[in-house]
Amino acid sequence: MNPIKGYLFDLDGTMYAGTAPIQAAVDFVNRLEATGFPYLFVTNNASMTPEQVADKLVSMGVHVTPEHVLTSAMATARYIEKMTPGATIYMIGEDGLRLALEERGFHVTEEAKADYVVVGLDRHITYEKLAKGALAIRSGARFISTNGDIAIPTERGFLPGNGALTSVLTVTTEKDPFFIGKPEPVMVDIALEMIGLTKEEVVMVGDNYHTDILFGINGGIRTLHVNSGVHGPAFIQEQEKLPTYMVESLDEWTHA
Ligand SMILES: [Mg+2]
Repeated sequence: MNPIKGYLFDLDGTMYAGTAPIQAAVDFVNRLEATGFPYLFVTNNASMTPEQVADKLVSMGVHVTPEHVLTSAMATARYIEKMTPGATIYMIGEDGLRLALEERGFHVTEEAKADYVVVGLDRHITYEKLAKGALAIRSGARFISTNGDIAIPTERGFLPGNGALTSVLTVTTEKDPFFIGKPEPVMVDIALEMIGLTKEEVVMVGDNYHTDILFGINGGIRTLHVNSGVHGPAFIQEQEKLPTYMVESLDEWTHA
């Protein structure tokens, strides 16, 4: 095996559980930060800006800056930039998505006519927003969704995720979106570009088999499962494709 030269980390269930930090992960990332070892947080969350993600981590004791954050909103903007620079975009989403698109120079329109329709989690979604998105897709816009998460964990329990909101447009237009977030492999390439490493050199660390571990497997990089979130070791062992490594917590993990 090649020596590890960088890490990609999931957030919820890996770095923290809701509002409580997972200390082993906090300590591990702080050790990486202290030695200048490359790493990136890779999150499906498209509603937060990298600054907001970094602020949340800092409040939990992780010494991190926004340059270490890749959200699915940022990845969506970079993906469209490669496909169609200067595209006009109709978006359903929150500030994290709008800022990510505008930062890459895209024109975000209020009209139901665009080159792309992009859907990210929007907690102020309305019928009119869905109507415009549907009309734009029917008029030929490419349909992109930041992630397919069907539910998101909150203090109130599991609430509709972006995949659930996206499904309204899928059903009504009979068009399937192109998904950017984990477990799709798009963000592997973007993450590697951002930290300047190759597939052989990085490891994806996460708690969720369906998103994090499959993201790594689909993207052709090594994976490290931590037992601090949704899936335990018994569930992992039942899967056909196993993560490369498994630990109880990052306290057990020493990297080369
Ligand atoms: Mg997670």
